[in-house]
Amino acid sequence: MQYEQFYRRSIEQPESFWAEEAARIHWEEPFSRTLDYSRAPFARWFIGGKTNLCYNAVDRHLPQRAQQPALIAVSTETGSERTYTYAELQQEVMAMAAVMQSLGVERGDRVLIYMPMIAEAVFAMLACARIGAVHSVVFGGFASNSLASRIDDAQPCLIVSADAGSRGGKVIPYKGLLDEAIRQAGHKPARVLLVDRGLADLPRTPERDADYAPLRRQYLDAQVPVTWLESNETSYILYTSGTTGKPKGVQRDIGGYAVALASSMQHIFCGQPGETYFCTSDIGWVVGHSYIVYGPLIHGMATMLYEGLPIRPDAGVWWSIVEKYKVTRMFSAPTAIRVLKKQPPEFMQKYDTSSLKALYLAGEPLDETTSSWISDALKVPVIDNYWQTESGWPIISIARGVDDKPTRLGSPGVPMAGYRMAILNEATGAECGANEKGVVAIEGPLPPGCMQTVYGDDERFVNTYWRSLPREVYSTFDWGIRDADGYYFILGRTDDVINVAGHRLGTREIEESISSHPNVSEVAVVGVEDKLKGQAAYAFVILKNADAAATPQQKSALEAEIMGVVDRQIGAVGRPSRVLFVGLLPKTRSGKLLRRAIQAICEGRDPGELPTIEDPAALEQVRAALRP
Ligand code: AMP
Repeated sequence: MQYEQFYRRSIEQPESFWAEEAARIHWEEPFSRTLDYSRAPFARWFIGGKTNLCYNAVDRHLPQRAQQPALIAVSTETGSERTYTYAELQQEVMAMAAVMQSLGVERGDRVLIYMPMIAEAVFAMLACARIGAVHSVVFGGFASNSLASRIDDAQPCLIVSADAGSRGGKVIPYKGLLDEAIRQAGHKPARVLLVDRGLADLPRTPERDADYAPLRRQYLDAQVPVTWLESNETSYILYTSGTTGKPKGVQRDIGGYAVALASSMQHIFCGQPGETYFCTSDIGWVVGHSYIVYGPLIHGMATMLYEGLPIRPDAGVWWSIVEKYKVTRMFSAPTAIRVLKKQPPEFMQKYDTSSLKALYLAGEPLDETTSSWISDALKVPVIDNYWQTESGWPIISIARGVDDKPTRLGSPGVPMAGYRMAILNEATGAECGANEKGVVAIEGPLPPGCMQTVYGDDERFVNTYWRSLPREVYSTFDWGIRDADGYYFILGRTDDVINVAGHRLGTREIEESISSHPNVSEVAVVGVEDKLKGQAAYAFVILKNADAAATPQQKSALEAEIMGVVDRQIGAVGRPSRVLFVGLLPKTRSGKLLRRAIQAICEGRDPGELPTIEDPAALEQVRAALRP
């Protein structure tokens, strides 16, 4: 079928299109209506249908694949490797679910998962899904303050964690960060469940903390039935950064998400049940939720869970995994490929990667050099895909499972099924012409799988996403253009969100953290183009006492201190790559930071006309701070 025909049907007859796609998953009770958009912009899909994400990801496959691999957990950090068949995965998930129930978790309760990339993290997610608890996975790289704000927002009754993660051979203890976060949070979880990997000290708080290993032994034979849930109940909350310092809890449904993932596995990722899928993301990000855990399992594939770096023990490690497990589809981020590109090519040539049929890259703009290099080296097509935590699955890509439509360098492709895309003028809301830059927007209703709302804050959902443009459409907060043939090009964020190595960070969050340093009076954080990571965060700081940074030694000591504050509060992911000291920051007369002007100077561009600037001398200060 021609892609245009497939796509047009999804737009013109969304209900019959998605009702057909819905047959890809199991419904314990059929839905009575496909779509309810009576309370726009809140879309409800598959009304009245009863299903379960865990059942679709695990139990449903048992008749055909009980003994086939489901989860393959490889850690080059601890040197461990373990394959769980679908039958074993079901047993582990039921054990975890029984343990959670023994700790008081019930349907609708929130469970926060703060875990490294270990199998128990996946068991915990699926166990929540099985019993109707709502999981909220917090990326293991986040530190106490970030964790505390998420605990306060999600109000979990249980937190599942571990003694430590490990990165590049360095153990990162979690428990101290977790205890500090719980101390800071207003909400106190009743229980904490701990997986002891034997990597770091694991102090326990009596009554509150429980060890997983003995409880698992106790419940290993437990039979925990699936709880059938209405399609529009909540499966999970995943926090993401926005313009304000307060992260937004992206809330997702059950039925719509399962259908969207099943559909995307078929049409976009094109994997076959029984094959192995390798996504190198982290379960703390949306890519990990959708394409490490739920998507591949719903599709009956074996999924890899990889803890480690792409270049350790050497740059061949991923390709050795591809060879050993006959990976057919791989999903990664451009930054990781740029890291590999810097390594000698022998590492790739050492392994037989002929099982691989395609490589998918997402999370940040994909540059042509990186794309062509990896495509030539692996001799497979590279498929860029553009999406967000909010959408849950690709918005723009090439659906090779439908039609082998050619890719276009620099473009992630064309809109995927159900996404009614528009490029709009920021000021007027009018549609832009071909090759004219505007805001990438989506007309409602959003297709299945996209966010239901901001957790606990419907008003914020409407005001943030649907009211930022002059008419009621969903804003992606990305600039983009569409060429005459309908291919989209993404040109960076319209808001104060930056993208470092495919990780989305709010500049406000980093600024708030830096401001807590006793000698910081004001700070502006901007994202600056970086060859390796896409963007790097630069922090421009006005000190209360400038004498403290009089000498180069004092400056670097203060810089290290400020980076330390961010490490402790947000985690190393948020650490700015440079801290620069200025006496003045470029602002408008009404006091708004002129971030884009600062960013332009950092990237060696002309900041342009700034008629509202309060004091142009501030621009010179930024330039001076950047001089070596
Ligand atoms: P996240 O919610 O963390 O997945 O980040 C989503 C943001 O990352 C998008 O709004 C874009 O700014 C950026 N992004 C994701 N995928 C791509 C892509 N394929 N090309 C360009 N930018 C992307």
